Amino acid sequence: MQLRSTVPLGRIAGIRVAAHWSAAVTVGLFTWILATYLRGTAGAGIIWAAAIAGALGLVACLLAHELAHSIVATRNGIHVERIVLWLLGGASELTDEPKDARTDLRVALVGPATSLLLGVLAYGAAAVSSVFSPGGPVTATLVWLATVNVVLAVFNMLPGAPLDGGRVVRAVIWWRSGDRLRAATAAARTGQVLGMTLAGLGSAEIIAFRDFSGLWLILLGWFLYSAANSELTMAGLRHRLGATTIGDVMTTAPRMADAAWTLDQLLRSDLVYTHHHLFPVVDQNGHPYAVLAWADLLRTRAGPHPGLRVADLARPLPPAAIAHSDDLLADVISRIVLRPNLDAVAVTDSTGRLTGLVTATDLALACNRSALGLPARPSTNTP
Ligand SMILES: [Zn+2]
Repeated sequence: MQLRSTVPLGRIAGIRVAAHWSAAVTVGLFTWILATYLRGTAGAGIIWAAAIAGALGLVACLLAHELAHSIVATRNGIHVERIVLWLLGGASELTDEPKDARTDLRVALVGPATSLLLGVLAYGAAAVSSVFSPGGPVTATLVWLATVNVVLAVFNMLPGAPLDGGRVVRAVIWWRSGDRLRAATAAARTGQVLGMTLAGLGSAEIIAFRDFSGLWLILLGWFLYSAANSELTMAGLRHRLGATTIGDVMTTAPRMADAAWTLDQLLRSDLVYTHHHLFPVVDQNGHPYAVLAWADLLRTRAGPHPGLRVADLARPLPPAAIAHSDDLLADVISRIVLRPNLDAVAVTDSTGRLTGLVTATDLALACNRSALGLPARPSTNTP
């Protein structure tokens, strides 16, 4: 899942944290639920203050859950792109897959374990607070936080991908069978069943009890089902692409645009008469950092742009879109979604200089060839 239009919140333990606008909806909803729960414990002003503090506290707990996943992943050599807070909680964006079943299991279990620990700590704090103000809003907020954390730990351990419990299922089957594809497929299938079950329960809740909180379950079920679907597709693709590397599918020595060129220089060069849709943009050291698409050039038709440079027009390459030629193609595909004719993966050598380019078309061709059982590169003895 790739969430765009996010606000960066900074770094914690070296991991980038960002929030999607939908996280504000979650905070608002939690505040409202908690304020309803706290009714009668104090005056309205204090209740709303406690509800806002409790909702923010819960978001901090969700973040702690994701940080636990990300920190353990990083320690086991898995690159973590960032953590994004959004409507349904938090998501850790890992750019590689765990190398072995044991790591898979560790990364999966530490999240629910953290939520459980936070739940126990919040219950402890509530016990202390109840000595001073039994039935007060602080005690009630702490009990609510504790309960939600325990519920989160249990919910996340439901056995279907992409939930943590699904990762545990994958790790255990992988461990016992040594067959990673079978393990990933089984975890994704149980994820589909789980998603449909939750959506079904939500619908039943609305029809039988006219309780519209069932909409939340339908949304959650739909999200789980579609995420499980894409995991299933990804597992199959990963299996078919096997050991195909970026170097097998890239265009070597691609034509590049210099960031310092003016638009005029670019339009007078022979670059615009090549058959390429996209041009990698390099800085003065020959390091790729952006791409320029025809769509970016066409935007300049509106009027004269004296002094406009390639650097002003190009779109930046996200870190996940820079790869080495010996990286596995499947790893790169799983971490980046390329828009046709707009994005590309830049391939660099050990000094960071551009050596190749992989476009969305190259990726689609590689997938089509692998679907037909063809090798990534032609064999030398052609008929
Ligand atoms: Zn988790």
